[in-house]
Amino acid sequence: MSNKDLADAIFPNITMTIKYYENKYKKRNLPDGCYVTRFAPSPTGYMHLGGLYQAIINYIIAKKSGGIFYLRTEDTDKARQIDGAVELIIKTLNAYGLNPDEYEYDGKVVGEYGPYVQSERKEIYQTFIKYLIEIGRAYPCFCTKQELDEMRENQEIIKVRTGYHGRFARCSRMSIEEAIEKIKNKEPYVIRFRSNGNFENKFEFDDLRQGKLFLNENDIDEVIMKSETMLPTYHFAHVVDDYLMGTTHVVRGEEWLSSAPKHIQMFEAFGFKPPKYIHTPLIMKKDGDSLRKISKRKDPEASITYYDEAGYPKIAVIESLMTIINSNYEEWHTANPDKKFTDFEFSAKKMSTSGALYDLMKLDDISKNIISKMTKEELYIESLNWADKYSESLKKLILKDEDYYKNIINIEREQEKPRKDIAKYSDIENLIWYMYDDIYRSKEKQYDWKNITDKDEIKNILSTYINKYIDLSDKDIWFNNIKIMCDELGYASNMKEYKKNPENYKGNVADISTVLRVALTSKSMTPDLFEIMKLLGEDSIKERYNNLFK
Ligand code: GLU
Repeated sequence: MSNKDLADAIFPNITMTIKYYENKYKKRNLPDGCYVTRFAPSPTGYMHLGGLYQAIINYIIAKKSGGIFYLRTEDTDKARQIDGAVELIIKTLNAYGLNPDEYEYDGKVVGEYGPYVQSERKEIYQTFIKYLIEIGRAYPCFCTKQELDEMRENQEIIKVRTGYHGRFARCSRMSIEEAIEKIKNKEPYVIRFRSNGNFENKFEFDDLRQGKLFLNENDIDEVIMKSETMLPTYHFAHVVDDYLMGTTHVVRGEEWLSSAPKHIQMFEAFGFKPPKYIHTPLIMKKDGDSLRKISKRKDPEASITYYDEAGYPKIAVIESLMTIINSNYEEWHTANPDKKFTDFEFSAKKMSTSGALYDLMKLDDISKNIISKMTKEELYIESLNWADKYSESLKKLILKDEDYYKNIINIEREQEKPRKDIAKYSDIENLIWYMYDDIYRSKEKQYDWKNITDKDEIKNILSTYINKYIDLSDKDIWFNNIKIMCDELGYASNMKEYKKNPENYKGNVADISTVLRVALTSKSMTPDLFEIMKLLGEDSIKERYNNLFK
């Protein structure tokens, strides 16, 4: 009996050949230097920050080169799969502007290399596995979990490397007759790849991020097809899919680097050229004084939904990730403010070697800048869209009087040095609530008085202001009035004068403005006071000042 008999016993219904698929999925007809990359998440119902990070790298490599970026759903682990998970991935990519050129979603296949969902490619994998069995490079393994556990314990006791290798690879020596007999008897089995490597040997592996590495050859007979589902493992699906789909660059987490020797061996067994690899560093965060991996379990910011819920503009999240993808990104972006992140010359070599440190404060800075450059119309639309999904109260506020809202957010906007106090849309309500009389009246307020705290003095300033100086027709007139008021009340209207002889005055014009500001808004930090007063109008100002100490 031959390997062919064994292959037929395992896959009686597989009649296709590798050639057939090579013909069906022709080599991509792209000019030299056009790269093909993919984002290949497992649909677990969770979009990790690290996933978006990788998707961005894949996207820019492909787009910058004029190539193809495609999405492949890696769902061979049926137990981990969750309804709606693919939808989450597609929606996230689209929302972040990382639209794949080829993908499969909701029964629709876009692209010539599909199916792009691994569980729908069973026949393809089985055809490739059948071939490996025929040439003696794969075999069925009937070891039970208990037997494998015992083997491992034994290996630990005698202090040898654990795993199914060398003399421990028991089923690799089973006769074809015995294997076929067991298959006929319906004994459960997996298929293992037959390694021809020697762990003592090193081979050169070129990782585009880390450069030349010397890795041990693989000598483990890795499982390539699972027992019950007869679906491939990640290792095998990676080899077949990235070959047939013409991937030129595989960008994946560095946790896969240790498996690369297996993958290279499998490519070799078929005579295929492996793709280029970029193993990306882990995303780290600062935790107290130390650094640690950002974790799905511990850190809400590990999930992309965190950024959506908080209301960060998508581009801010992308930019923040770009700064940890290549540390020279920021400098480039400052020098080229009008260029898009996709114009940036990404360099795998310039990626951090130790881990990519992600910092939410940095994201806030980037985001404040981006929001500060929005026009009032843009910010109105973005914040309303966000509120529609995540904040009933902000939505109500906006819709109560849209023009009024636009005027509020327009204070110190659309000018050379715009205000930069909004990092995310969820900040807005807290920055504008005092512009609404009804909210202002009913809210419990903490007045942030600064230098002047004496109640009678404050009352005096406010009543002088509303009785004599409340002219809001023009900013210069208004400011001039405040200066006159300063002189009248014994405060310095001129800062230079004040600094020369502070003892001559009760305080200065800044103290007066602070009283006017805090009495009106309860806050000592607000955007332009004149603009606020103008929007609120005289009646409201008077009401607030008159009721302050009641
Ligand atoms: N499905 C694998 C993962 O989520 C993909 C790794 C790869 O990109 O090859 O880790």
